[in-house]
Amino acid sequence: MSPKITVMKLAIKTPFFCIFFIFFAFATTQGQPDTGKVRIIMFGAHPDDCDYGGGGTAAIFASMGYAVKFVAITNGDAGHQTQKGPELAERRYKEAQESARRLGISYDILDNHDGQLLPSLEVRMQVIKKIREWKADIVISPRPNDYHPDHRYTGVLVQDAAYMVAVPNTAPETPALKKNPLFLYFQDRFQRPNPFRPDIAVDITAFFDKKIDGLDAHVSQVYEWLPWIGHYSQLVPKNESDRKKWLKESQTVPITPEIRNSLTRWYGREHAEQTKHAEAFEICEYGIQPGDDEIRRMFPMLGHKN
Ligand SMILES: [Zn+2]
Repeated sequence: MSPKITVMKLAIKTPFFCIFFIFFAFATTQGQPDTGKVRIIMFGAHPDDCDYGGGGTAAIFASMGYAVKFVAITNGDAGHQTQKGPELAERRYKEAQESARRLGISYDILDNHDGQLLPSLEVRMQVIKKIREWKADIVISPRPNDYHPDHRYTGVLVQDAAYMVAVPNTAPETPALKKNPLFLYFQDRFQRPNPFRPDIAVDITAFFDKKIDGLDAHVSQVYEWLPWIGHYSQLVPKNESDRKKWLKESQTVPITPEIRNSLTRWYGREHAEQTKHAEAFEICEYGIQPGDDEIRRMFPMLGHKN
């Protein structure tokens, strides 16, 4: 008799074991039922970064019953032209929660200062803890090449958490993952030292309005701070419906030939040619390296190439 069967028999005979086994079978991350579906966590430096890079993909996963979490590694307390400090952090926290409500996901904000992020051991442990608590199968972050130091260091911090999330002696107070997740990078435009490579491209056309809904919740950013620092405040309409329409237009960007090729790879030529909006991701070398079948299992919204 195998040890497994012995334990099962014992479990059937002993009420305590039964309760223990039932608890184990259904006990989950933060009280959520274990659906057997992959779990997704995305990291951004600020409480709006994930919305830009992965809002559409998150909304698709959420609509299919997948658990998705966004994490902002800083509280965003420097990102405004007239507000700052705790008042701004509180406003941005509320905006992020509203965005999460609209997308059907959860949104955590770590209490590190905006504009002062460093790839320290302390913050690395915070990131490891978040990935482990979420029992993440897919982790998405910026690449460590970017104009903003907080974005760069978010990329470094998440890279530094890869592999270590499975090492039990690191941050032992939070149980280690049984296996290293799939680590991905958000799309970006930076060319050095190497351009972004769209290994996976998700057609978000049907969920683009949902992505805009999420971004629209970040009023302090999309309608105030980013237009101010980018010198285009005069373009932002005053009333709410006009400004949301403007936001949608400003977020409508041409699909690059590289991303169109990736869409063709995953969805077939006909579907790829009709795709109006996409989000793309690059596979990081420090996590698992899935084959095409495994990628299709993890991203079930990808089509079947015909
Ligand atoms: Zn940012």
